[in-house]
Amino acid sequence: MEAVIAKNVSIYYNGQKAVEELSFKLEEEETLLLMGPNGAGKTTLLRTIAGFHKNYGGELLVFNKPPGEAKELISYVPQSYSLNERVPLKALEVVAIGGIYKKGFVHTKLSKEVCQSAEEALEFVGLSQVKDKPFSELSGGQKQRVLLARALISNPRLLLLDEPLSALDPSARVEVANVLGKIKQEKGISMIITTHDVNPLTEIGDKVMLLNRRLVAFGTPDEVLRDE
Ligand code: ADP
Ligand code: ADP
Repeated sequence: MEAVIAKNVSIYYNGQKAVEELSFKLEEEETLLLMGPNGAGKTTLLRTIAGFHKNYGGELLVFNKPPGEAKELISYVPQSYSLNERVPLKALEVVAIGGIYKKGFVHTKLSKEVCQSAEEALEFVGLSQVKDKPFSELSGGQKQRVLLARALISNPRLLLLDEPLSALDPSARVEVANVLGKIKQEKGISMIITTHDVNPLTEIGDKVMLLNRRLVAFGTPDEVLRDE
């Protein structure tokens, strides 16, 4: 089954088209690197696939369902992330938040089960040692890995990641890219990753899309990036 099928999808804000006539397919377990200049519609496309933005035309299916009905299958990690916390949260608690919104039901307490899943997710991203540290005191790369752990805790089949590398220094980029590679290899989760810097991700990208409101290019990294 395809993770995403888009046929002639146009996405609107107040009657203006941000994305026009977009068609593509992403197979299950594939990773798509989504590239394009600022304002190209990358975030808009991710938010539409995630089911947050509903003003679109054409046919869009996520695991054969309209985006709004596929929310349980998707984890979305926005580009900028503010916790807005009153009390500083520990890394483990930030991960556990991802487990308390299940099936539309918000648990007010962190159950043992959720805490256990959060520990496992932190271990998966290699951060068990910082679980009791305040999230705000972590390095940029560690924060991004905690957010990945948080996205994984609901066992998604599709991960939507908006610029997961952009705020990081080169060594942290490699660190986060390695975790993304591990997610692909060990969990087989489909991913759409927006990025300006394709280099740390060439190994894990099955497909590359160049978007500039319209589809500019789509194919394997070899096909699309050969001339760059
Ligand atoms: P990218 O992520 O590629 O930088 P965006 O998806 O953020 O591009 O933006 C695409 C276009 O849609 C831009 O022209 C932007 O100004 C516009 N846009 C984005 N979000 C909104 C919104 N909530 N309301 C109206 N216009 C928006
Ligand atoms: P929607 O619920 O339709 O997805 P958003 O939550 O993305 O809309 O944005 C809500 C409102 O914020 C938009 O209708 C728009 O008026 C405003 N907005 C946000 N970002 C932009 C932008 N880049 N350009 C213009 N307006 C924006």
